Amino acid sequence: MNELVIATRNVHKAQEICSILPASCRVLTLEDLPDLPEVEETGETFAENAVLKAEALSAATHSWALADDSGLCVDALGGLPGVRSARFAGEHGNDAANNRKLIAELAALTGSSPYKAHFACAICLAHAGKTVAQFEGRLDGTITLTPRGCHGFGYDPLFVPDGSACTLAELPAEEKNRISHRARALLQFIAYLRSPGQTH
Ligand code: IMP
Repeated sequence: MNELVIATRNVHKAQEICSILPASCRVLTLEDLPDLPEVEETGETFAENAVLKAEALSAATHSWALADDSGLCVDALGGLPGVRSARFAGEHGNDAANNRKLIAELAALTGSSPYKAHFACAICLAHAGKTVAQFEGRLDGTITLTPRGCHGFGYDPLFVPDGSACTLAELPAEEKNRISHRARALLQFIAYLRSPGQTH
């Protein structure tokens, strides 16, 4: 595998993936391939959406493709925003609106604090339109209703990982990329690259 196409138009996500993968992976993102058709994320799970994106991209580009589908699941909201994380408030990728909606929904609940939550990341590796391997990562924590920090993206200013006093957005990128759901899934992918026959 000398070239890997990453199925995302999310610049932050692409940056995190590139920082975690070994430098030997030559990575292209959807920003480098603007003419490819959009893939509708119609799956009911992160894993289903990762498969949809990776298979479509590998078929269209005739390359190895890697897709990350990820999001935030909040216990007190029955797992929402979940697979709807990017479009929780309606418009895809409007982080500020998504965070406002999450704060409003949790503030309207009584007696559920601390708000336990986790980030989930499903990774799919595909070639020639078919899934080759899948990996998952998870980061547990709680939601604060007072956003803090300016690093990262998405719900990072509201998410406090278990064992930390900081939100993910207060942590430097290197620290987030050491502990995140994405890092945990990608570390399995890296182990798979080194020994594809093993279960990871
Ligand atoms: P996807 O691009 O369909 O996988 O949607 C990902 C969405 O989940 C993002 O737009 C964010 O709202 C949220 N999300 C996923 N990973 C992270 C993260 O590492 N930090 C904060 N928000 C995230």
